[in-house]
Amino acid sequence: MEPKSLTIDAARSAVQQRTASAISLTESFYARIQNDDPKIGAYLTLCKERALAKAAEIDTLAEKGERLPLLGGVPVAIKDVMVTKGVRTTAGSKILGNYIPPYDCTAVARLEAAGAIVLGKLNCDEFAMGSSNENSAWKPVHNPRDLSRVPGGSSGGAAAAVAADMAVAALGSDTGGSIRQPASFCGVVGLMPTYGRVSRYGLIAFASSLDHIGPLTKTVRDAATVLGVIAGRDPMDSTSAEVPVPDYVTELEKPVHGLKIGVAKEYFGEGLDTEVRKSVEAAIQKLADLGCEIVEVSLPHTKYAIPTYYIVATAEASANLARFDGVRYGFRAPEARTLSAMYRCTRDLGFGAEVKRRIMLGTYALSAGYYDAYYLKAQRVRTLLTRDFEEAFKKVDAIVTPTSPTPAFKLGEKVDDPLAMYLADIYTVTADLAGIPGISVPCGETREKLPIGLQILGKHFDEATILRVAHAYEQAA
Ligand code: GLN
Repeated sequence: MEPKSLTIDAARSAVQQRTASAISLTESFYARIQNDDPKIGAYLTLCKERALAKAAEIDTLAEKGERLPLLGGVPVAIKDVMVTKGVRTTAGSKILGNYIPPYDCTAVARLEAAGAIVLGKLNCDEFAMGSSNENSAWKPVHNPRDLSRVPGGSSGGAAAAVAADMAVAALGSDTGGSIRQPASFCGVVGLMPTYGRVSRYGLIAFASSLDHIGPLTKTVRDAATVLGVIAGRDPMDSTSAEVPVPDYVTELEKPVHGLKIGVAKEYFGEGLDTEVRKSVEAAIQKLADLGCEIVEVSLPHTKYAIPTYYIVATAEASANLARFDGVRYGFRAPEARTLSAMYRCTRDLGFGAEVKRRIMLGTYALSAGYYDAYYLKAQRVRTLLTRDFEEAFKKVDAIVTPTSPTPAFKLGEKVDDPLAMYLADIYTVTADLAGIPGISVPCGETREKLPIGLQILGKHFDEATILRVAHAYEQAA
């Protein structure tokens, strides 16, 4: 069985019906990775032994004629910010270059409990800080659609692996757009669930009030399946919510006719690429053709989203990254003679330039005398951004926007201009700040054949509706 265009249901039923064994399927994915990944760079670590052991377990079940669990025999991969027991986990950073975690991230454990086969760990921007994957300490990722372009970030390896058929599905993380934006750049589906929907236990923290785990997949149905597996309360994460998890796959089939879809002019302003605008407008028309009612809404504080995000995220990052001191995890500078020199040298050698920039920005924003002017102000504006959505969602069931203002840009194009890189997150950071769910679904391509993404945002804990709209659009398109 060929990895090409393989979906979760197709993989699982092939293994169930014994037209393929889980072992042979796993081997064929590794063959593809060996062949194609040298030019793409999606994987950082492979865990063949663990994968084949799991595959053997699934084959035994299937041989006995037992019904396979939802992800039985499905090869998946994990962004390298989620810890995996006994398998090197680096968060894309040298400071964790030799870190072997002693436990599994809950989301990963839930995938495996549902029968998934974890092939390996995926490249990403260092500590998930970036929009192009160029901040990985190890290597860049190349967009499978055009190797001279970035795959997006920070879950660039996850999007590229799924787009290049080197995994059926992947787990990524989204703090300011890192699932949705790379999904849009690589032409796959990326879902960021509501804050609290999926446990972050075992996710290496970037900004704790913004971090989310979610799936990148080839189809909306696959995203619904994976979400159903990883969602729900986890006693190991106090921020995971005790909210019932619906059957997302069944919900997909409900009609979208009569749903109210909001369009906000603030998401179609200056800086939006004309080809992206055209595709997104055509997608909105398609939703109207499907019987959705298109309603204009206003999200007036959107213009403050980027500064707000880059204060809150860096402030939290500066605190979260304090733990990397050479004592407890990973790398330690060998030549330092005193304790404080050891801390300084370890962090100086271990962190890359962007991570240091964020630690400095965040430390500044939290420092005495500046806290009120920056951090406190940002938190207040965050509330205003959240209220914008609350008001809009009184009138509509979902809101559609472009996922990113441009298609995938060239490698190297923005690396020397962090501000330009930050500004490109304009359409994605708002959902993280408000804690609402969002999905990016492919909605066409540019003349140069670069994928474009349609973003659909929903109410808190209403992933079912955005999945349903995305599914209806995907089927119609
Ligand atoms: N690009 C954003 C940043 O650099 C978002 C990253 C993310 O979602 N992890 O912070």
